[in-house]
Amino acid sequence: MKGYRYLKDATTLELREPLCIGCGRCIEVCPHQVFRLSEKKAAVADRDACMECGACARNCPVNAITVDAGVGCASGLINEWLQERKLRIPGGGCCS
Ligand code: SF4
Ligand code: SF4
Repeated sequence: MKGYRYLKDATTLELREPLCIGCGRCIEVCPHQVFRLSEKKAAVADRDACMECGACARNCPVNAITVDAGVGCASGLINEWLQERKLRIPGGGCCS
């Protein structure tokens, strides 16, 4: 999804750094390189690149990440991108 950007300061992504055990899963699964590892803890490196896909939150073993995935315009952008590639998730849409 290179080139796609979410609205500035709009993502619901939250990282509770004290809970992080530095496993690196969020970095591995994030398609937009939102996270980086800093001093054995995850840190948000590019917040506005988050498209609220939810992969990081689903894969974090200690629930240090929360994000409202599958709602709003970020979801619509993702579904549009999938639709362009004929991979659309049924029922997905933007602002409907
Ligand atoms: S919700 Fe998706 S795009 Fe946003 S930080 Fe998590 S994995 Fe990356
Ligand atoms: S997946 Fe969770 S525990 Fe692992 S580095 Fe990311 S925030 Fe930390």
